[in-house]
Amino acid sequence: MSSGVRNMPREYDGDRGLSAESDRRLTMKGVSRTHLTSGGVSVRALNNITLEIGHGEFVAILGPSGSGKSSLLNILACLDVCDTGRYDVFGHDVRTLNSAQLAHLRCCNFGVVFQSYNLIDTETALENVETPAMYAGESVMKRRKRALCALVRVGLSDRHTHYPNELSGGQQQRVAIARAIINGGRFIFADEPSGALDSSSGTEVIQLLRNLVDGGRTVVVVTHDENVAQQATRRIVLKDGEIESDVFVQSAKEVLGRLDPRESQRSYFRIGDVASIAIRSLKGRMMRAMLAVLGIAIGIASVVTMQAVGEGAKKAVMTRVNTFGHDQIAVFPGGANQRNKDVGPKAGLTHEDAIALAQVSNIAAVAPMIFTTQTVRVGRLDLRTSVLATSHEFAVVRRWHPSAGGFFDQSDEEKFRAVAVLGSEVAATMFADDDKPVGQTILIKNTPFEIIGVMPPRGAAAGSSLDQDNAVYVPISTARLKLVGDVHLHMIAASVSPVSAIEDAVRDARDLLQMRHGVSNTQVRNLSSAIDAVSATQDTLTRQLALTGAISLFVGGIGIMNVMLINVVERTREIGIRMACGASAADIRRQFLAEAGAISIVGGCLGVVIGVIAIAMVGKVALPVALQAETLAIALIVSGVMGVVFGFLPAVRAAALHPAIALTRR
Ligand code: ADP
Ligand code: MG
Repeated sequence: MSSGVRNMPREYDGDRGLSAESDRRLTMKGVSRTHLTSGGVSVRALNNITLEIGHGEFVAILGPSGSGKSSLLNILACLDVCDTGRYDVFGHDVRTLNSAQLAHLRCCNFGVVFQSYNLIDTETALENVETPAMYAGESVMKRRKRALCALVRVGLSDRHTHYPNELSGGQQQRVAIARAIINGGRFIFADEPSGALDSSSGTEVIQLLRNLVDGGRTVVVVTHDENVAQQATRRIVLKDGEIESDVFVQSAKEVLGRLDPRESQRSYFRIGDVASIAIRSLKGRMMRAMLAVLGIAIGIASVVTMQAVGEGAKKAVMTRVNTFGHDQIAVFPGGANQRNKDVGPKAGLTHEDAIALAQVSNIAAVAPMIFTTQTVRVGRLDLRTSVLATSHEFAVVRRWHPSAGGFFDQSDEEKFRAVAVLGSEVAATMFADDDKPVGQTILIKNTPFEIIGVMPPRGAAAGSSLDQDNAVYVPISTARLKLVGDVHLHMIAASVSPVSAIEDAVRDARDLLQMRHGVSNTQVRNLSSAIDAVSATQDTLTRQLALTGAISLFVGGIGIMNVMLINVVERTREIGIRMACGASAADIRRQFLAEAGAISIVGGCLGVVIGVIAIAMVGKVALPVALQAETLAIALIVSGVMGVVFGFLPAVRAAALHPAIALTRR
């Protein structure tokens, strides 16, 4: 065995370059460690410690309570770092190693055993033993086999499915020893391993450690037990944080045979492992996890539902508005210069204007309109309703034709015939279901009109507040004669063909009316832009509803953060154990992010289900709803992202824990 110091490249790179036996030493020079109590008092636990631990030694660290034994062991095992002085592991100054490299050292080169066993309560003996191999990135099959072998070595092959609380103290400590050796680490650090055990269990544990030394490992054990100390090859006695004596009682065992040189190249801790730890951990805190899930579910459900309600409202409005088509223009009296309104002979819209507009190129059909409200009577039934006086072209402009009977034609207008066409609601109100309105007579303002047609349902009219189904349509000539007298038109409706020429048609119509009236006292509107405006309004509504949902989703996210922060506090010791077993800060962070993500995604799925049910119910009861598949997909993605966002702070907190401190938590 060469003991010459080689100037190895000092870049620590896992196990590569560490195989030289000369590098397998731990060297401390002038190491001090001062703890700061929570009360602000600083306690010097170690003072100027210099020692070197070589290969194959069985070192007993002795000393009264409070003399710094545990502090020393923690620094040796890289669970803690010194304040001053230098500690070299295999020739590398630990202060030059980053947290991942330290984690690798703990994972693959060191094993730790504690007085209080420090097993993970929610995992079986076998799973506990496997932990370091898992963080070394070994496959499940391989590590399970080796964990079983390790359990056989400590005499617990029949207890691998037991949980820590189902094992005696001695058995738990043997599980901890199996865990310490599973990765083939050469250094085993044990802090009073028999301190909590009865003498026979204690003897068994010490015998196991002794066997490890015989098998070529180096064991450093903190003990009060004289029997243990007597087996050691070297005894270091501490007093008040300083080395009082350091005696080699026997020469270190000549290493019998080489250790199995399986130096696991640490790869990634697998997704499957992250998931199974997450599931075990969440299972153990089911109630809390479920509440967090519920928070997200409610948030996602409200976003999905609100979105569907908003979309539904928009669709409902748009189907009604869109029945007009995009080829409609409307002309209204009153322009930019309102003072000219109804002043002089050329003010107001006239029938002649309508006739002139019909000549404009690209204008396909023109319908003059006068709106009036009249009392309509059938038999003894009176109804105040809108009466729209228009021309026969109205049906053409609106592309809307009677479902029963027909619309009035040019000759009806020319002959001032008293004929009427009913909107569907007027027909429904005034006539029983089995009573056919066509052919019957109604009185409008006491004038009998013959019903010649009934329109199919259509809904609101663009450009006016008229409910087209709640109206009666009569020829404009007859209306002038019998109902309204010689008034100006309220509106001229026109349709454009082709639709692409609508802008030109609007401009030409404007020019024509300006010319005819001499002043700008009319407005020509492109109704497709009105449709766009309605659509935009509805989009705003949808967004506002979705925002309401998003707020509850945010509250759900805060819920996840809260639950995860509590989990971190509760599991501090578990985190310490995992770090001592070789988990890096990144592994811990990933673990907590995965748990937050799992809560969030389960919440998201549940939320989508609740949302779909809610939408179905809302749709049945009252409001129009429109469920969009992409909303559901986005909701699921958002829930996943939320888990990561709101799990981030707790995960970072967990990963920032210091192993030595985390291990002291209850
Ligand atoms: P031993 O293991 O020999 O009993 P320790 O190394 O645990 O001794 O402790 C050495 C001294 O450092 C003691 O006085 C103890 O109170 C103090 N100490 C140990 N850990 C901490 C800590 N985390 N915070 C504050 N003081 C500590
Ligand atoms: Mg101690």
